[in-house]
Amino acid sequence: MSRRWKTLVPSVSVLLALAGCGAPPGPAPRGFAPRYEEPAAADAAHARFLRARRLPERAADALNAYLDLPYQVTVLARSCAGEGSGYDPETRRIELCYDDLTQERELVTTDEEVADVMTETLYHEAGHALVDVLDLPYGGDRAEEDAADRFAALMLIREGPDGERALRTAAEAYARTPPDPDDGRDEHAPPAARAAAHLCLLHGAAPERHADLADRTRGCTPTWPQARDAWTHDLAPLLR
Ligand SMILES: [Zn+2]
Repeated sequence: MSRRWKTLVPSVSVLLALAGCGAPPGPAPRGFAPRYEEPAAADAAHARFLRARRLPERAADALNAYLDLPYQVTVLARSCAGEGSGYDPETRRIELCYDDLTQERELVTTDEEVADVMTETLYHEAGHALVDVLDLPYGGDRAEEDAADRFAALMLIREGPDGERALRTAAEAYARTPPDPDDGRDEHAPPAARAAAHLCLLHGAAPERHADLADRTRGCTPTWPQARDAWTHDLAPLLR
């Protein structure tokens, strides 16, 4: 699966052996590992924002405190020239795009809200990485996208009121996102449906703190216990 992984490890061992170094190779790296690429000039301010807020580090720390991965997944912040953030199973890389922030700043107002939306994106991509790690049998792109959204909600709800605020900000940003004209080919649910699914879980998890969502979420599915229990069941082999 990972060409980078399989070529790097043996070559390091060979180099150590050739150098006559008696120390055994250290344990293979594992867990979510943040990295930054130099940004394109147009993305320099976005890159500074991500670094200053340490969003990849903070997400990786929370994920690693919760889960013990069998190998390393890089969380790579980089300029993507509009490709959009994503997870690449070949390289086991989450690519978090500096240039996504241009679009996010059109949807939300404050730096705090931008950070909230990017954190939700990070956890969504981590959800894809975990579908890959666990080889979960999602039948179809849409089902995996929905599961990745539910993983993002789970991570944020686990963080308590601050995470709940971030989830709510991300949901409201989806609600303000215009529908994609290529909607039929987009693997994600329409933005309004993604917003509704997040708000459903949020109200289900903390109804007292989000009492104003009662009417908008009445009868919604999957419910918070269903979503939480499904992911917790799937994550069982990795839970610390
Ligand atoms: Zn996705």
